[in-house]
Amino acid sequence: MFEDKLRALEQQHLLRRLRVIDSAPGPTVTIAGRPVILMASNDYLGLATHPALKRAAIEATERFGVGAGASRLISGTLSPHDELERTLADFKHTESALVFGSGYSANIGLIPALVDATGLILADRLSHASLIDGSRLSGAELRVFRHGDMQQLQGLLDRRSAGRETLIVTEGIFSMDGDAAPLVEMADLAERYGARLLVDDAHGTGVMGCTGRGTLEHYGIESRIPFHMGTLSKAFGTSGAYVVGPSGLIQYLINRARPIMFSTAPPPATAAAAAAAIQVLQSEPQRLTRLWNNQRYFVDGLRKLKFHLTATVSPIVPVIIGTAHKADAFAQRLLELGVYAPAIRPPTVPKNTSRIRATVTAEHTREQLDHVLAAFATAGVELGLLHRQN
Ligand code: PMP
Repeated sequence: MFEDKLRALEQQHLLRRLRVIDSAPGPTVTIAGRPVILMASNDYLGLATHPALKRAAIEATERFGVGAGASRLISGTLSPHDELERTLADFKHTESALVFGSGYSANIGLIPALVDATGLILADRLSHASLIDGSRLSGAELRVFRHGDMQQLQGLLDRRSAGRETLIVTEGIFSMDGDAAPLVEMADLAERYGARLLVDDAHGTGVMGCTGRGTLEHYGIESRIPFHMGTLSKAFGTSGAYVVGPSGLIQYLINRARPIMFSTAPPPATAAAAAAAIQVLQSEPQRLTRLWNNQRYFVDGLRKLKFHLTATVSPIVPVIIGTAHKADAFAQRLLELGVYAPAIRPPTVPKNTSRIRATVTAEHTREQLDHVLAAFATAGVELGLLHRQN
C-alpha cells in the first residue's frame, strides 16, 4: 500500500530520499565517502562550525546538561534561554523576544495566537508551509495573493468587511526564490487598512541589512513593523526560532502559543550557541562582506552562462530547470561533477518550475565557486539548457 504510493512518486520523479552527510557542514562535505562542494546549506555565515559557538554549546552542556527537561512554563526555562532572549531583543532593537524550538513551531504557534476563526489572513502565494499551516490552524479565512502582487493584496483588503481582524503574511526573503518581499508597500497597506503584518525573516536574519539585522533593516522599516519572526537555524548556524516585538505580545504568546505551552524547551546548548552567533555576527562583520562578495560572484557567473535565474537578491540562488525529471537529472549530474545542489520539485515549488536551489556562504572560496560554475556549464550543455560555446 505505501509501496504503491512510493512507486507512483518515483514514476513522477517526485520521490524524496534522505541523503546522509558524513562530515561537519561546510563548503565541502563528504557524501558516500566522496568530498563534494556543498551548495545547499542555509548556514550562510559558516557559523555552524565556528569555535565560539561550539565552545558556548559545550560550556552550556557542562553546566546545564543536555536536555531542558520540561516545557518553558514548567521548569524548562534555563538561564541560556533567558540570555538568548535578551540578546535577541537587544540585537533587533525590540522590547522583548521569545524563543521557540523551531521555525515551524514558531509559525504554527504565533499565527493562531494573532488571529482567531473570525479573522482573515492574506498570504503571499509563496509563503513557507509553516506559515500556511499556522494560518490553517488558526481557523481564520485564508486568502492567497499572487507572489509580491500588491494590487491584488490591496483589492483583497478593499473587499473585506469593515473592522474584520486581518493579518498579512509574507516571508522577508523567499526561501525557494531568494527574492525579497516588497515590505515597504506592505507596511504602507497594513497601516492604511489597519491590518497586522507578519514577516517571516528566516532567510533574511544575519544576512540582509548593513549589520545583518535582516530584511526590515535592509528596507529601513524596523520602526514601522512592531513584531516579526525568524529562525536561528540559518545564518545563526544553530536551531530554533524567535519572535521579537513588544513585551505585551511576548507575554501573550507565553500564555497562548501552544508550542511554548506543550513542547519541551530547546536544549540549553543550542540557546547558548545561538547567543554566541549573534555576538560573532557583530564582532566579525567581514563574514557578511565575504558572503555578499561570493553571492555577487556566483550570480554574475551564472548570468554570464545565460541560465534562467529567479529575481534573487540573497545567497539563495535558484536556477530554473523546468520539469521535475530534468531538475533531478541536473542535480544528479552536478553530484557526479563534485557539487551537491539538490533539485527542488513540486509540491515545494509550482509545477514546471523545478529548480536547482544553490546557496552560497561566506566560507566558499573563489576556486570552489569556479568549480561549481564549470559544473553548471557542463550539466547545462549536456541537458540542453545552454548552447555549447566554442
Ligand atoms: N520559515 C521559513 C521561511 C523557512 O525557510 C523555514 C525552514 N526552512 C522555516 C520557517 C522553518 O524553520 P525551522 O527549520 O527552524 O523549523
